[in-house]
Amino acid sequence: MNAPIDPADMPTGIRMTLSPLVARVLAPNPSPFTYTGTQTYVVGQNDVAVIDPGPDETEHIAAMVAAVGRRPVRAILCTHTHRDHSPAAAPLARIVGAPIVGCAPLTLEDDGPRADAAFDASYRPDRILADGEQVAGEGWTLEAVATPGHTSNHLCFALREEKALFTGDHVMGWSTSVISPPDGDMTDYMRSMQRLLDRDDVIYYPAHGEPVSNPQRLVRGMMGHRKQREGQIVRFLKRHGVSLIPDMVADMYKGVDPRLHGAAGRSVLAHLIDLDQRGVAAPLDDGRWRLC
Ligand SMILES: [Zn+2]
Repeated sequence: MNAPIDPADMPTGIRMTLSPLVARVLAPNPSPFTYTGTQTYVVGQNDVAVIDPGPDETEHIAAMVAAVGRRPVRAILCTHTHRDHSPAAAPLARIVGAPIVGCAPLTLEDDGPRADAAFDASYRPDRILADGEQVAGEGWTLEAVATPGHTSNHLCFALREEKALFTGDHVMGWSTSVISPPDGDMTDYMRSMQRLLDRDDVIYYPAHGEPVSNPQRLVRGMMGHRKQREGQIVRFLKRHGVSLIPDMVADMYKGVDPRLHGAAGRSVLAHLIDLDQRGVAAPLDDGRWRLC
């Protein structure tokens, strides 16, 4: 979406100041899914919060501890519990003596089918933030904005003093978010995107990719992109009749890194489930899909 970032501009392990209240530390976990890696944010001046501590890697934990310095940590917040976001919460909490606050763990009764390899099952928050609940320190307030879609437990955090929003994986500067059912839900995602459109944030700090200014324009573009994808699926089914998801992916994601085709298939499934709920498409018993 944006021009590729020069890795020299994205050093890992170093605190980069982005605004009076916001600094970031990049974790050393680049991949096709995490872009240059997970970005941990440190919010505040005299006392701080840490958002998305990232993977449990010694080097990254040491970098976060150095970025915090001697300042008290009021909370360690997680936007969601994918393995590139929350596993460092517990070891960091032990070192800096802070509570883990933020998204709920996945609902336990359906942990089985919902949790896949991407999930951090070890996540244990001290306090769960419901939509609209806040954590505050000296000169900063972070408010939870429930944004299910990428995962069912996803939260964004609004920094009211700077009209900034930490968007986790809900909106990222470099790519659209992976919606992988059953925990990922396209209907919820589109509703959560609309929620952001109705807000007046002036900047987004995503967990992956550069900060986004004029963020509503990006959100509108991403919603349009999903609508286009949905239109492609409907047209494919019209043209080919009863079809399998891999055939749709091969047709619709030409030119996309094949390593991402699995994730693309999950997104197509998410669209189909959404279309099913709206009575537009339906699955057959053998895994193929048709229009209604
Ligand atoms: Zn994620």
